[in-house]
Parts: sequence; C-alpha cells; structure tokens
Amino acid sequence: SAPGASRDTRTTCPYCGVGCGVIATVTTDPATGQDRVSVRGDADHPANRGRLCSKGSALADTLVRDVDGGGRLLHPEIDGHRVTWERALAEVATRFADTIAQHGPDSVAFYVSGQLLTEDYYVANKLMKGFIGASNIDTNSRLCMASSVVGHKRGLGADAVPGSYADFETADLVVLVGSNLAWCHPVLNQRLRAAKAARGTRIIVVDPRRTDSVDGADAHLALAAGTDSVLFNGLLVHLHARGATDAVFVGRHTDGEEEALAAARADAPDLATVARRCKLSEAEVAAFYADFETTEKVVTVYSQGVNQSSQGTDTVNSILNVHFLTGRIGRPGMGPFSVTGQPNAMGGREVGGLANQLAAHMGFSAEDTNRLARFWNAPRVAAQPGLKAVDLFRAIERGRVKAVWIMATNPAVSMPDAGRVRRALALCPTVVVSDCIRDTDTGRFAHIRLPAAGWSEKDGTVTNSDRNISRQRAFCAPEGEARPDWWIITQVARRMGFADAFGFASPADVFREHAALSAFENDGRRAFDIGALAAVSDADFDTLAPFPWPWRAGGQPQERLFTDHRFFHEDRRARFIPVTTRPLPRSLPDGALLLNTGRLRDQWHTMTRTGLSARLSAHAPEPCLDLHPIDAAARGVADGGLARIVSTAGEALARVRVTDAQVPGTAFLPMHWTDAFTGSCVIGRLIDDDAVDALSGQPDLKRMPVTVLPY
Ligand code: SF4
Repeated sequence: SAPGASRDTRTTCPYCGVGCGVIATVTTDPATGQDRVSVRGDADHPANRGRLCSKGSALADTLVRDVDGGGRLLHPEIDGHRVTWERALAEVATRFADTIAQHGPDSVAFYVSGQLLTEDYYVANKLMKGFIGASNIDTNSRLCMASSVVGHKRGLGADAVPGSYADFETADLVVLVGSNLAWCHPVLNQRLRAAKAARGTRIIVVDPRRTDSVDGADAHLALAAGTDSVLFNGLLVHLHARGATDAVFVGRHTDGEEEALAAARADAPDLATVARRCKLSEAEVAAFYADFETTEKVVTVYSQGVNQSSQGTDTVNSILNVHFLTGRIGRPGMGPFSVTGQPNAMGGREVGGLANQLAAHMGFSAEDTNRLARFWNAPRVAAQPGLKAVDLFRAIERGRVKAVWIMATNPAVSMPDAGRVRRALALCPTVVVSDCIRDTDTGRFAHIRLPAAGWSEKDGTVTNSDRNISRQRAFCAPEGEARPDWWIITQVARRMGFADAFGFASPADVFREHAALSAFENDGRRAFDIGALAAVSDADFDTLAPFPWPWRAGGQPQERLFTDHRFFHEDRRARFIPVTTRPLPRSLPDGALLLNTGRLRDQWHTMTRTGLSARLSAHAPEPCLDLHPIDAAARGVADGGLARIVSTAGEALARVRVTDAQVPGTAFLPMHWTDAFTGSCVIGRLIDDDAVDALSGQPDLKRMPVTVLPY
C-alpha cells in the first residue's frame, strides 16, 4: 500500500464459536513502510454487532507474524530439514499411497481441527472418504461437541441448532448448563447481560463451579458433577405432574414421551431425590422448577460441562426432552441451545468432519454412500464409520494406523492420555503435521512439517453456534512459504492420482461444490442445504454477507428451524429419549478430588497465539489449581503454594488458589498450558482416555479423580 494508506477487511474472529465479525485495518507506516494491523468489531455482523471480547480485541497482537518471537513454521521440512513444496508434497503423497497399497485404506488417518475453514475441511473429507476410501478422519471437535451432535440427531433427526442468538434477547429465562458463558462465549454473555439490564431477563446457572457467569445471575445451582441429567429428568417429571405440558405439540409432533417419562420417574421421582442426588437443597430445586414451569420463553444453553462427559449425549437429550414436553422449540425466545467451543466446529460437521458421518449431513446408509459416490464420481466412498479420536490414537499405538496427517491441532496436549498420544506418534512410521507454528508438542513428532497459512492469511467460511456462515478473509500475505490447508490437501490428492476430482483453484471453487452437494437430491429431509449458493460467483463469494443455513435454492436463509414443527426424522416427528443417569465413570478413591478442566477468559487452546500477547497473559500468568478451603487445609496446601496433582494417568505441578468458588471435593485446572510454556501442567497428561461417551465418542474431561499433595 502507499505510505499512510489504510484498508479495511471484514473477517471473522478465529477463536470461539460465537463467531464475531471483525474489521481488520492494515495501515502502512509512512516512516518505515511497514504494515500495522488494528482490529475492531463489525457493527454489521449479526453475531456481535460491533462487540469484541478481550481475545478478539487483541487479535492484532496475536497474528503469529513475527518470525523470531512467533515461532512461525515458514518452510516445508522433512526430518527437520528445509525442502521445497514439490518435494514435501510428493513425499506425503508417496508415503500415504505406499501405506495404502501395502496395508489398505484403513491404515491411514487424518486428525483435523475446528480451526480449519470449511473449505479446508471439505477437501480433507473428500480425499479420505471418497478417494482413499476410509473414514479415518476425525477432528478435535470430538473433544468439544460430539455429544451434542448425537443428541441433536436422536432428538431432532439432524445435527441442527434450532434457534438464533436473538433468542437470548427475547427469552424471559435463560438457563446456562455447564457453560461458563462469561469466559468461553464472552460476547454472547454481553448480549445476554444487556438483555437482562433492558428487560429483566432472568439467568439461572447450573454448574458445580461458581464461575464469572454466576455474577449477577438470579440463581446458581452448584450441583454435584455429572448430575445435570438428574436435574432435567426431575424437571420432566415435575412439568408433567403439574400439567405444564403442550399436549397438542407432544401429540402431533413427537414420539416417545411415555418411555422418557418412565425413565425420568425411575431416575428422579421427586424433589427430595433430585436434591439428594444433585447435592442441592429442595428449596433450590423447587424454585428452579417453578421458574421453568411458569415461564414460556426459556432458552436452555449448554456447553462443555454437558458435552465433555461419558454421559454427555444423554444429558443433551434430557434437556431436549423438557423443551419437547413444553412445546418450547421453533418459537422466538425459546429452545435448547448448544454453544460450540471452536470457531468452525459447526462447519466441520456440515462437511462430514467427524469419523461417523459423511458430508452434507449424510450418514453411511447405502442410499447416502451411493449418492455421494455419484456426486463426487468417487471410486470408493467409505462404507462405514471410521475411528473416533480416542480410538484413532489407540490404533496408531497398536500399529494398525501407520500414517497420520494432523492439521491445525495439538493432540499431544489436548487429547486425554496425552502420554499415550505421544507414544503413539513416536511409534508411527509417518507423521505429517500442517501448522502455522513450528515448535508445538505435536510437531516435535512430525517427519514432515507443512507450513499452513493462518488467520489473516487465508480465505474461506466458518459456521458459528447459531448456524451463521461467515467469511474469513485474508488481509496479509502468508508468512514465508505458508499455504492454505485446502491448497495443501488438494496438491497431495493430485499427486495421489486424483487430479480430476481435486481441480479446485480457489476457496470459492470448493465452496460452490460444497453448496451443490448440500442440495444434491435433497428434498428437504437433510437439514443442511445451502443450494442457493451453488453457483455463487467469485465476486459474490468475496462479498458474501453472514447468513444462517439452511438457504435452499429459491428460498431465504432460515434464522429459526422447526417453526412448522416438522423435524428431520423420517416421519418428521421429534423423539423424546429415555435417559438414566449413570454413576461416575471412574472410581473415586478415599481422599481423592474430582478434577474439572476448562478455559480461562483470555487464553485460547494451547496458547500458540494468545500466549503471544502480554496483555492477555496478564490475566492468568500461570496455571492455578483451584481448591475449596476445606480441601486445601485437609491436604496441607496453602493459597499461593505449589501442589502436586497425581492421577492414574500422570502427574502435574501447579500453584494453588484457595477459593470457595469450588464445591468441596472438587478441583479445577485450566487446559491451556503445554510443554512449550511449562512442562509441569499439561492437562492431557492427567486425564486418562478410559471414560468416553459410548454414543458420541466424546471423552470425559471434567471428572478425573486426582490426589493433591503439597510440593
Ligand atoms: Fe472472538 Fe469469541 Fe470473543 Fe467473539 S466472543 S471476539 S468470537 S473470542
């Protein structure tokens, strides 16, 4: 740009699933000729209307563009040596093709990320499921939203969030279940608090911890970990007993009410039982039930406290059940509402980013695989689901998977039993890692490193928690030789012999095919359909404004689903699901505490970006173990002192923070720290991978027994 000139680019924040619109301004310094980046919220974006949180406001400080300070991976490398792109791409293609030739398609795998753009995800899925012919592609969204996906499919017939963020502002009661909205979805929390100030929206927080989301809320139910489904089963029983049901809706549009009620009555027959099992007072439970019963406009928001559990799927369905019973779905200001952790967890789901689904919300029925084979003209569409994340790394450890390509994620830290993941990667004959950052805990195991373009450098789309598809746009040239992920995957696919199917020249090319597939032979029974954009021009893709899916050809984008009370099961009826609360998945020895894990306000995942900002790091400079005063005293550890945290999986060291925000018998550690920052407190080393939701494959990351000792 000319010195002093500045240019604005509308894009989307790369952090949480709120999906805020950002305007990035690049100004060329007249003195140095250097570009300077600043960001502000986009007032026209429906997710945030100009707001940003601390992480979004600091985006310009976390661009990972400083070669020395940012640790950027600048060039392709094989065995630590710089090589050309041609050499690296050929090596990846040859290693994968040879492995498949010798051991079959199931001997290779991709492990991808909610940080990828939808177009990246689409080509990765197409290569694995359509052309390699296996389904071994899973995503770190497995750790995030997999339980909601299955819960939605069981209840609604499709993985589809019913409402929109606007419902937070028109509800009279918002119930936050296992969601620290104030820290994990801050702009949504700002919108909720503004609604509370303007019209008195009541907020009830259901969470074992007293988080910042509790500040100013009307009630906090600090229930025992893992008893959310008891609370909601009891609510189902209560609503039915009080006649607070929508009998017309239930009769016309749902099935399974009696079975769900029977299970709920066995699990949570009365107030006294609910209070005892949840470790709440009867008065607290009764007040919550009465508020829910008498308030028509209720939104129930749930997040990782629900999902990251070995009974996550059932808990999701226990929440859906009460909305079905009251007919509170498909109408303004009401409905169950899953908020996703990552910026593009939803987009990945739309293109089949999980090992147990195909693209465009298709499954593995003969009809769906045949349809996909015809659309892609694919030689061997995978016929059955692949390995979910935990099983995938176990298969690598056992030698069943012999080549893995990891994109934009750091499983050596984030996966449960990170020690096993590290052993598996050390044994794996071929590990390819695509990333922006050179030295990650996972990258250390890579035979081939591929430099990926990062936020600010790449173009495509993401889908946020209320189904809004937004553009991420490039406003900086890629550092070094970095390239977008869709391009890297396409180049490898061509070298594996699939050039005809991977002729994509731009993200717009990929998006058009993705949109066309969503509408292909879709008579309205597949929820995801953006066929209106199947022929979008390059220019219109460039300027595409955020819109909620579905957007069917000839129709309009749909802000709210199920307004006609037609669901996506074959008979178009919703399903109550019987739910029985299960005991803790791991035995709790005498004296052990239940360890909960989660995010901090100002950090993101493994801190490769947010860790670059001094301002963000000032909020919590080191990982702290939160303990209730009774537990700290009993273990001889003091506030500010160091403690050893020991589990059956491993051990960690952290400073202690004594706080009555914890319920006695529990502890909390943040999830962000890695070997790159401090090797003493890697969460994945403390949590085993034995407790997994049997339906969703989502690991239980919030109820790990640990022993705490003075250091
Ligand atoms: Fe980014 Fe989420 Fe903050 Fe919005 S709320 S600015 S999407 S981190």
